[in-house]
Amino acid sequence: MSGYNPQPPPTNESSVHKANCHCGAVRFTVTLSPPLHEYPVMNCNCSICSRNGYLLVYPDTKDFVLERGEDVLKDHRFNSRQVRHRFCGQCGSSCFVQLPDPDPPFVCVNVRMFEGIDVDKLKIRKEDGRSWKGEYKPEFN
Ligand SMILES: [Zn+2]
Repeated sequence: MSGYNPQPPPTNESSVHKANCHCGAVRFTVTLSPPLHEYPVMNCNCSICSRNGYLLVYPDTKDFVLERGEDVLKDHRFNSRQVRHRFCGQCGSSCFVQLPDPDPPFVCVNVRMFEGIDVDKLKIRKEDGRSWKGEYKPEFN
């Protein structure tokens, strides 16, 4: 992931969003700039994004606050096993993605967890991750 920065340039405006997994065990708050209605939300066709239904935004780490759920979150890791795809261990919602420590600059957050989200109103940015991430093979054959 080094050198890869999917964050759009911030603007003078921001929006704040409460988010939770389906069962509510995981709750977090996200501040976005540009605000969500202007934010290019990533819709990627790679193996993990398509399976998890990720629609991703990239708040600075300081603008992502995990209110509760650290104890129930589980990780899915693959390839280099550095990146933590974090999902609720109770309900299975794919919540967010954390980059390797120390001090990752941003968190990849699934806007599908946001309260009141209307996917049809998002400014979607398509990414052809299937092409640049290489061939996908399940680990269990
Ligand atoms: Zn849950």
